[in-house]
Amino acid sequence: MRAQDLAAAVAPHAPLDPPRSADATENGGHDSNKPTPWGIQPAEQRSSMTKTYDAIIIGTGQAGPFLAQRLAGAGMKVAIIERKLFGGTCVNTGCTPTKTMVASAYAAHMVRRAADFGVVDNGPSSVDMKLVKSRKDAIVGQSRTGVESWLRGMTNCTVYQGNGRFESSKEVSVGSERLTANRIFINVGGRAVVPKMPGIEEVPYLTNSSIMDVDFLPRHLVIIGGGYIGLEFAQMYRRFGSEVTIIETASHLAQHEDEDVSTAIRGILEQEGINVRLNATCIGFSRRGEEILAHVDCVSGDPEVSGSHVLLAVGRRPNTDDLGLTEAGVAVDKRGYIVVDDQLRSSVPGIWALGDCNGKGAFTHTAFNDAEIVAANLLDNDPRKVSDRITAYALYIDPPLGRAGLTEAEVRKSGRHALIGRRPMTKVRRAVEKGEAQGFMKIIVDAQTHQILGAAILGTGGDEAIHSILDVMYARAPYTLIQRAVHIHPTVSELIPTMLGQLQPLADTAGAPR
Ligand SMILES: Cc1cc2nc3c(=O)[nH]c(=O)nc-3n(C[C@H](O)[C@H](O)[C@H](O)COP(=O)(O)OP(=O)(O)OC[C@H]3O[C@@H](n4cnc5c(N)ncnc54)[C@H](O)[C@@H]3O)c2cc1C
Repeated sequence: MRAQDLAAAVAPHAPLDPPRSADATENGGHDSNKPTPWGIQPAEQRSSMTKTYDAIIIGTGQAGPFLAQRLAGAGMKVAIIERKLFGGTCVNTGCTPTKTMVASAYAAHMVRRAADFGVVDNGPSSVDMKLVKSRKDAIVGQSRTGVESWLRGMTNCTVYQGNGRFESSKEVSVGSERLTANRIFINVGGRAVVPKMPGIEEVPYLTNSSIMDVDFLPRHLVIIGGGYIGLEFAQMYRRFGSEVTIIETASHLAQHEDEDVSTAIRGILEQEGINVRLNATCIGFSRRGEEILAHVDCVSGDPEVSGSHVLLAVGRRPNTDDLGLTEAGVAVDKRGYIVVDDQLRSSVPGIWALGDCNGKGAFTHTAFNDAEIVAANLLDNDPRKVSDRITAYALYIDPPLGRAGLTEAEVRKSGRHALIGRRPMTKVRRAVEKGEAQGFMKIIVDAQTHQILGAAILGTGGDEAIHSILDVMYARAPYTLIQRAVHIHPTVSELIPTMLGQLQPLADTAGAPR
């Protein structure tokens, strides 16, 4: 279970005990003179003010709480440190709030489309942004409180609030406290990048965090960045009623996707009236009265876009700069990500890095899987590793994109002999019946092994249907297994076997109309 799921599950049954004090002896710390079954260094060799644990976890994002539960459950004395909001990015400023708001935006969209379904709506409808925000705040608050009370109620676990910082490879300070352990796990996540664009300091701007406080409708939201985060906010705010312009430096949106996927995404967004400016080579800002001007040195179109608000969605950076990693001797790469091996061990024995801060993934499910890998290696004698993981994620525009494995471009580049199947959503009855037939699905298989190499489902239910493909990929079974499965009618998934029955050589489809 992921932290936010656990939070939801735990919150209603949260223990009524008051929060523990930070006294380690009373609340999970060691008697300083006794060696521990986990091989901890006798505490008299350390400062008398230092509290000794078997494990210290820095950060309560998607890896930390689950790992705390596993380690504490195995009898270790665990300290977990959080400097800001329990549950981290996903719960507070990432997955949970955005998907909650995407749901509000979808409702607004469907109200506008009511007549398409024969539903007559005579009254004027409107979006109340204060209510949208309070719904989001309630759902987020429930998860955050759930994570916090779960951790505070966990046997063998002590919660510290404050900034955790390495003083040495075995010592971490939190405010005036000093903690020590032979095992330290870093789960500090990341934050939005604020790029050094000309004029950026002269104008107010929003990030994925600060936009969570917005309870009004921006007249014209200019979004810098056409990646996953930017696209979700773009469609959401357009559906709430804002004018929206996306400015992207690359030649296509969601630039890591295949060109056909990216083109279809652009079509979906433009159909809803979102302005898209690509190839923006020199982005800068200035003010004209109340207006914010985004200067766009594009190949075509106006050289500037005038908006009421700017959202920066140009990437994220790891929270490793103020962690004292130099004092601990932990190596980072040139972008600040902690260098780890396939089992998430850092360059210093006894220190691991999990989640977004290690650069091995940028999703909640990858952070959580990191915790599973570390726990399996430490506690279960199960040598799980990161390279066992198959790339998988979703983009939560509507309709969503579900992705698994390699892209078509990656398979082509690899030069291997492959087969590809495609199907437009207009040929998926379930999508047609729902009045949501935008997008398409495609799948690529290895021509020799018949194993599935990758798939994309851009269409209604694509975020769920992709899992029927992903599970077969994990099973390393041939695609023919899916063809023999009887899928439920009417669903999006039932057309996956049909698509697999129409495979053709990938080499023959280069440049073919999609
Ligand atoms: C807008 C947005 C939407 C997203 N949507 C999705 C989605 O739909 N699906 C998905 O899979 N992923 C999504 N993500 C990504 C996902 O949120 C992250 O990949 C995930 O939260 C990473 O988890 P983590 O445990 O590595 O770190 P985080 O969740 O960032 O948690 C790190 C925690 O460490 C704390 N911390 C940092 N430094 C210190 C310190 N020195 N001392 C003490 N505490 C510290 C932080 O306060 C934070 O609570 C989204 C991200 C954003 C920004």
